[in-house]
Amino acid sequence: MPDYPSPRQEFALFRHEPELVYLDSAASCQVPDEVLSAYLNYYQHGHANAHRGSYPLAQQATAALENARASLATFIGATSSQIAFTPGATYSINLLANGLELDWQAGDEIVVSRAEHHANFLPWQRLAQRYGLRLRWLDLDPRSGVLTENWREVITPSCKLVAITLASNVTGQILPVAEIARHARPFGAVTVVDAAQAVGSVPLDVVALQCDALTFSAHKMYSVTGCGVLYVSDALQARLQPLVVGGGMVTRVEEHSAEWVSGVHALEAGTPNTAAIIAGATAAQWLRAQRERGLTGYLQQLTQQLREQLQQRNWLQLLPYQGDALPLISFYAPNIHAFDLASFLAEHAIAVRAGSHCAQPLLRYWQHEAVVRVSLAAYNTAADCERLCAALDEACQLFAESD
Ligand code: PMP
Repeated sequence: MPDYPSPRQEFALFRHEPELVYLDSAASCQVPDEVLSAYLNYYQHGHANAHRGSYPLAQQATAALENARASLATFIGATSSQIAFTPGATYSINLLANGLELDWQAGDEIVVSRAEHHANFLPWQRLAQRYGLRLRWLDLDPRSGVLTENWREVITPSCKLVAITLASNVTGQILPVAEIARHARPFGAVTVVDAAQAVGSVPLDVVALQCDALTFSAHKMYSVTGCGVLYVSDALQARLQPLVVGGGMVTRVEEHSAEWVSGVHALEAGTPNTAAIIAGATAAQWLRAQRERGLTGYLQQLTQQLREQLQQRNWLQLLPYQGDALPLISFYAPNIHAFDLASFLAEHAIAVRAGSHCAQPLLRYWQHEAVVRVSLAAYNTAADCERLCAALDEACQLFAESD
């Protein structure tokens, strides 16, 4: 196992509940002290409505918000003028689906992958229904978990937008987003990347990804809820209308008309969640430091070891992935319902998630109803994996006896 100093003691949750095996970081990560301190410090020493007042405290809040924007922009290879804050990835994608002015005509195509979380599918499905657009799918091979080659055939000049996740929240498979965006661009198609699941594990670079828009939620990278980051390229900003209008995004309001401010601030009507945004920027710094200490290699190895341990249990079936993947594993037991397994594990203080993981099109296509997902993060250890495997063995025995 690569030498990685475990930051487990930096998390109040694990200091208070050392026995807890938390294997649901793909849903929300736990939050380290440094990030919580930044959040609390803002309310104790720097809280005011950003971008509103001219007194020192308000200016301090505005500066803190804009510093966080600069820092989160750098985190994904963008500039401050390309980053809007939203409540989360779901909101960001709805904003795009409702606000993009792409001159939609009946018959235009939107391409999504079979790996999409509902958050990066339902907004496009509804848009398609509204304008009579055609939704087309990039399939995933049920044996290997990778995208089948058909994407070169599916993305044609009729395609106006590709909405694709950087990684599946069910299998962890990383998708070839940059290649797809490069293929789509000559047709004039816009590529929207859902990086919500990938952000905690994959360094993001919007330039390398060649996407037009990208979003993630900070609670999936060791921060609090309430901070979403939406990158929109300069060219796409000119074709994007706000989803919500109100204070802070107008230059002039008349009785019958109004003018929006230019740029990303037009997407941020109302009081921003400055504390969550500052926490998000602090989490990005914390995560960068963990990566420098060897987090990525550590999690890759821990996940590989767990995968091998699970594979030894032939009563379990693992969902496939190939090549690069996130530190998560989904599995099912043909004879035990996923919810029963998860409940059994919960009784042993092991937190996992069971269900369709907001990815029903993928599960149905692969003919599963529900699977158990375990996801690993910086605070997990080999001991957590052993506890999981031991509890699974007990479950296997118990359910076999009750058959
Ligand atoms: N996309 C993916 C791939 C996700 O895993 C999630 C969160 N489960 C989302 C989008 C939505 O994120 P949020 O709930 O923070 O808006």
